Amino acid sequence: MKTFEELGVAANIRKAIEEMGYENPMPVQEEVIPYLLGETKDIIALAQTGTGKTAAFGLPLLQKTNVKENVPQALILCPTRELCLQIAGDLADYSRYVDGLRVLPVYGGSSIDSQIKALKRGVQIIVATPGRLIDLINRNTVKLDKVKCVVLDEADEMLNMGFTDSINEILSQVPEGRQMLLFSATMPKEIAKITRKYMDDPKEIIIGRKNEGSSNVKHVYYLVHARDKYLALKRIADYYPNIYGIIFCRTRRETQEIADKLIQDGYNADSLHGDLSQAQRDSVMQKFRIKNIQLLVATDVAARGLDVDSLTHVINYGLPDDIESYTHRSGRTGRAGKTGISIGIIHVKEKGKVREIEKIINRKFEQGTIPSGDAICEKQLFNFVDNLEKVKVNEDEIEKFLPAIYKRLEWLEKEDIIKRIASLEFNRLIDYYRDAEEIETPSDRQSRGDDKSFPRRKDRDNSGSRQAERGYSRLFVNVGRTDNVNPATLMGLVNEFVADKVSIGRIDIMQNFSFFEVPERDVNKVLNGLNNQERGNRRISVEVAQGERGGGNNSRGNSGGRPQRRSSGGRDNDRGGFSRGSDSSSRPKGKGGFRRR
Ligand code: AMP
Repeated sequence: MKTFEELGVAANIRKAIEEMGYENPMPVQEEVIPYLLGETKDIIALAQTGTGKTAAFGLPLLQKTNVKENVPQALILCPTRELCLQIAGDLADYSRYVDGLRVLPVYGGSSIDSQIKALKRGVQIIVATPGRLIDLINRNTVKLDKVKCVVLDEADEMLNMGFTDSINEILSQVPEGRQMLLFSATMPKEIAKITRKYMDDPKEIIIGRKNEGSSNVKHVYYLVHARDKYLALKRIADYYPNIYGIIFCRTRRETQEIADKLIQDGYNADSLHGDLSQAQRDSVMQKFRIKNIQLLVATDVAARGLDVDSLTHVINYGLPDDIESYTHRSGRTGRAGKTGISIGIIHVKEKGKVREIEKIINRKFEQGTIPSGDAICEKQLFNFVDNLEKVKVNEDEIEKFLPAIYKRLEWLEKEDIIKRIASLEFNRLIDYYRDAEEIETPSDRQSRGDDKSFPRRKDRDNSGSRQAERGYSRLFVNVGRTDNVNPATLMGLVNEFVADKVSIGRIDIMQNFSFFEVPERDVNKVLNGLNNQERGNRRISVEVAQGERGGGNNSRGNSGGRPQRRSSGGRDNDRGGFSRGSDSSSRPKGKGGFRRR
C-alpha cells in the first residue's frame, strides 16, 4: 500500500488530511489520485458510496487549482443539496492549508442572491446541483469558460433524478478540452450514453467489480405473505436490539404509514419523505445522525442526502421497482470498514427480483427465517445482560443509597435478585411473544401458482381456504388442468371475456378447478364477464371463493370439490384458531428491553 506522499499529494494538503485522521489512502484514492495528478485523460470510476471517492477526486483537484486565478477552474456536479454541502465541506477541510483557495457550494433551496454575491467575489471550485447551476447560468452570473475539469459525482443518481437535460446543457457551456471524471455506483445504459457523448477514450477504474455490492454487506431476504410484511419488520427490529438502520419504502404514503405504526408500537422511529418541508427533513436527518432515532423510514429520494457511516442495517420494505436502487440502498450499510446487513422483506411475487439483483451486485442473498418469539426473547435478554455487565456505575452518587438497598434485599439470594432484575425487564416481552404465532413463509409453489408437486389432498385442503392478498378477492372457477387450463390460459380467458383490463394476482390451477385473485373492485366485472361463457364444451362458472367477502355470503356448499374455508374471523386470527394476538397488537412499552435512546 502506498502513502499519500507516494501518490504525489502535496505537503499542505497532507497536513490537513492527516489532521482529519486519514492515515492511508483508500483503494479508490490509490487508483485515482496519481492518475488525476499526472494525466489529463477522462476517467470513469465505478465506486460505491462510502469508498472515499470525494478525496479521490478532491485532493488532486485542489492541488491542480491555480489560486492566483480567481475564476472557476473545476466544476463538481452532484444530485442533492446535502451531498453538495458535504463535498464542499470536505474540500474546504482538505484545503485548510492552501491559501486563497475558494470553494462554493451552489444548490437549490437557499438564497440565490448570496450565491451570486459569492460568485462575484470569485471562486475557483464550484460544487453544484444541476438545477441551481442552470439558474445561475441563465442569469449570466456564472462563467464556465475557464473550467478545466468537470466531475459528475453519483452520476447514476443524477440521471435517476431526471437531471440528464440539465447535465447536457451544463456540459455544453464548458470548454471542449476539459477533463471529465464520472463517478457512479452502477453503470446503467444512460451513463454509457453520456460517456460516449462527452468523454474521450476514458480510462475505466473499477473499485471492486462492476456493479458489485460492498463485500462488507450481507444480503438477506425474508419471504412473507404481503399481509405479514409489517409483522416481519417488527420481529426483525426486535431481533436486533441495537439496530440503527433505514427502512426503505416505495411511496411517501407507505413511508408515513409504516413510520406511524412503528411509533405507535413503541419503536424509536421517524419518517423522511418528500411531503415533509425541508426544515422537517433537516430536523429528522439530524436526529437520526445523532442516533436519537434508531429506525428511519424513508423513500429513496429523501434518503439520498443522508450521509451516515455507521448503519447496522438497511431494510427494504419490499424491493425497489428500479432494481438498480437496491445497490444504493444496500451501499448505505457496511461502510468505512464496518459490516452491515441489507434485508429484503419480500412478498413471493418479488422473488424473481432477488435473482436479478444478485446478478447486478454479483453476490448471493441468503434466505432468512423470521426470528421466532423465543429467539427474540433470548436475543433481547442477552443484550440486556450485556448492558448490565457494561453499565457504568457511578460509585459516588449511588454509594449513599446502597446500605438501605442492601438492607431491603437482604432476604434474597443472588440468584433471586438476578431472576427478578431479568423479569422486571422481560415479563412484558415474554408475555408479548408467548402466544405469538410464527410468521409463515410462503412456499415457492405458491409463488409460481403451479401445484405439480403438491399432493392432491393438500391442494384441496389449503388452496381454497388461502386468504387473498390485501385488496384482492379470491375467485373459484370450474376449470382446471383436465380442461388444459394453465395460468396463461386463465389470464387469456379473463382478457377475452372481461371488457376492461384486470390485473390478476395469484393463480392456483387444480385438477378440475382453479383459483385466482383479482382486485376487490373488479370482482363483479369479472363475474359478469366470465360466467356462462363457453370454453371447449364447458360452461364457465366463477364465484367468490368460500369465506371471501365477509365470510361466505356466496356459499353454495362444497360443489365441484371446492375446499371449505375455515371460519373466517379477523385477518389476524384466521389461522386455524391461532391467536396472533401479540404480534398484531402494540409492542410492550416497558422501560427495559425497548429502551429509547
Ligand atoms: P466518501 O466516499 O468520499 O463519502 O468517503 C467515505 C468516508 O470515508 C468519509 O467519512 C471520509 O471522511 C472517509 N475517508 C475518506 N478517505 C479516507 C482515508 N484515506 N482514511 C480514512 N477515512 C477516509
